[in-house]
Parts: sequence; structure tokens; C-alpha cells
Amino acid sequence: MSGLRVAVIGGGIGGCVAALALQRAGCIVDVYEQVPVKGEVGAGIQILPNASRLLNAYGLAQQLEAIGVRPSMTEARRWDEFTAPICLASSAARSHRIACTWGGDVSAWCSTTIASK
Ligand SMILES: Cc1cc2nc3c(=O)[nH]c(=O)nc-3n(C[C@H](O)[C@H](O)[C@H](O)COP(=O)(O)OP(=O)(O)OC[C@H]3O[C@@H](n4cnc5c(N)ncnc54)[C@H](O)[C@@H]3O)c2cc1C
Repeated sequence: MSGLRVAVIGGGIGGCVAALALQRAGCIVDVYEQVPVKGEVGAGIQILPNASRLLNAYGLAQQLEAIGVRPSMTEARRWDEFTAPICLASSAARSHRIACTWGGDVSAWCSTTIASK
């Protein structure tokens, strides 16, 4: 794939991370995003180990560490008030960050990393 020119349509997390992966495979990547400036949606996202492992591998570990938190516990709730605690400590111990962050941050970090290559 080296030297192949690829257009990625959409600069969300999916498009930006795909662009990083393609770039690492030697492609020349252009990301096209319809929105000039991405606005905050008012929600954080939890990045679970499989995803954070990839982000770390793509050189975004520092950014994840800077604004992410590593919750040791989460809770699943049901309509009838049943709650199930879920321990996340073993995931955190595997050193895959469970970062809670706003998804737009991830796109922005990827864009900066893509642009700097
Ligand atoms: C409230 C909320 C909470 C969430 N919590 C979590 C969570 O905890 N953990 C988790 O993993 N996920 C979570 N998600 C889901 C996660 O945010 C999405 O799955 C992810 O952001 C999708 O990324 P994407 O790049 O596929 O799509 P999008 O983010 O939708 O990006 C698509 C991009 O393509 C652009 N685009 C579309 N058409 C065109 C075009 N024709 N030309 C140019 N650009 C175009 C759009 O403007 C957009 O920027 C949450 C989502 C929401 C809404």
C-alpha cells in the first residue's frame, strides 16, 4: 500500500484513526471533513482497552494520559433500579487506559498527528 493516495471522508474518530492507520501503512492520506470547526457535544466517552491500546500504538498515549481518567469501577443500571458494579481494575492494570474524554478531542489529536507527518 505504500505510496497509495487515499481520501478519507469524515474526520470523526473513525475517519481520523483510519487515516492514522493508513498513514502508518505508508499511504498518503487526505481527510475531508464537512464541518469547519467541531463543536463540543456535551458528552464524554469512555475509551475501553481495545481502543486505547490502538490509540497508544498510534502515538496518542501522552494525550490520553493528560486528560483521561482511569476509573476503577463502573456501574450498569436497569430500569428497576437493579445495579451491577463492574470492576475495571484488571483492565487498568493491563496498562490499557480507560480514558473518559470528549470524542472531539480524539479527532483533534489524530488530526494534529496526521498533520505533523
Ligand atoms: C452521547 C454519546 C456518548 C457516547 N459514549 C461513548 C463511549 O463511552 N465509548 C465509545 O466508544 N463510544 C461512545 N459513543 C459513540 C462514539 O462517540 C461514536 O461511535 C464515534 O464518535 C463515531 O465516530 P465516527 O467517526 O464513526 O462517526 P462521527 O463522529 O459521526 O464522524 C463522522 C464525520 O464525518 C463527517 N461527514 C459526514 N458526511 C460527510 C461528507 N459527505 N463529507 C465530509 N465529511 C462528512 C461528519 O461531519 C462527522 O464529523 C458515544 C456517542 C454519543 C453520542
